[in-house]
Amino acid sequence: MKKGNVFSGIQPSGRLHIGNYVGAMRNMIALQDDYQCIYGIVDYHAITVPFDPKEMEKRIFNCAVDYIAAGIDPQKSILMLQSTVTEHTELAWILNTITPISWLTRVPTFKEKKAQNPDYVNMGLLDYPVLMAADILLYKSVVVPVGEDQLPHLELTREIVRKFNNYFGVTFPEPKEYLGKVTKILGLDGVNKMSKSLDNCIYLDEDKETIWKKLSTAVTDTHRKRRTDPGNPELCNIYTMHLAFSSEKDIDYCSQQCRIAGIGCLDCKKILLENMYAILKPIQERQKELYAKPDYIYDVLANGGRRAKMIAAKTMEEVYEKLGIKRFHQ
Ligand code: SF4
Repeated sequence: MKKGNVFSGIQPSGRLHIGNYVGAMRNMIALQDDYQCIYGIVDYHAITVPFDPKEMEKRIFNCAVDYIAAGIDPQKSILMLQSTVTEHTELAWILNTITPISWLTRVPTFKEKKAQNPDYVNMGLLDYPVLMAADILLYKSVVVPVGEDQLPHLELTREIVRKFNNYFGVTFPEPKEYLGKVTKILGLDGVNKMSKSLDNCIYLDEDKETIWKKLSTAVTDTHRKRRTDPGNPELCNIYTMHLAFSSEKDIDYCSQQCRIAGIGCLDCKKILLENMYAILKPIQERQKELYAKPDYIYDVLANGGRRAKMIAAKTMEEVYEKLGIKRFHQ
């Protein structure tokens, strides 16, 4: 017996990096057995920033491959493409009518994206959190696996739920967040969020040698200037990566040895490399297998879209009733 529905989306924004894997995907995988999970490749979110239409199909395909290779099981979860279930945008429009503009202008990611693309500030970008609320509420999701940076969006979703339920009668549950053990890995610069545009990522499909090149020069505890200086793992992004990829034994060892300068940062990074690559290697092998089966990937998405639509249509029936327009949607 499943405990309820879960929705989460990942943008088809190119190659996935370990920040995506740890911050979102791993949590999505963890929920598959206990919940009916609906996982969406959210292409309508992706077009709110500049994009190349010629690349879009490939980006969506690759994203589906990455999801499945990382452990999303299409037998257990619904994997779908957001734009194929048109109820997402329909519900978003309805939610727009009860969402004050001031709630949207205060969202931190809107401010960030506005700063990144000052010539591309469009309504979709401002409205992004409402579409995200619609994604979640369309399936009456009770839990949403999120990274830390998504928490303001989820809070906004809950505010929208309260407002909708208050205006039209109880319809949607207030979704709770599911945060994993490690919610955020910084980029290799140790300062910024891991992001393709900042060129500070380790990608899921990179070979061991490339990962080592990146790790060996990655920023650690900046107060540890010499090999003989004790370090503080709490101030080190490499240690955060250990928390995400290493065993308890290795985590304890690196933490203790760092504090007494028993190991150098390169020793610590070598241990991390082995642990990280042990997790990435099987994912990379599955990626290769899946790239050789394009029909399977397209079938998974088509089937997922059909299954998602059945749930979405049921929710919309209830929404039409609450809005007083059900008679016209028979
Ligand atoms: S030893 Fe490890 S945890 Fe300590 S500062 Fe160096 S890389 Fe970071």
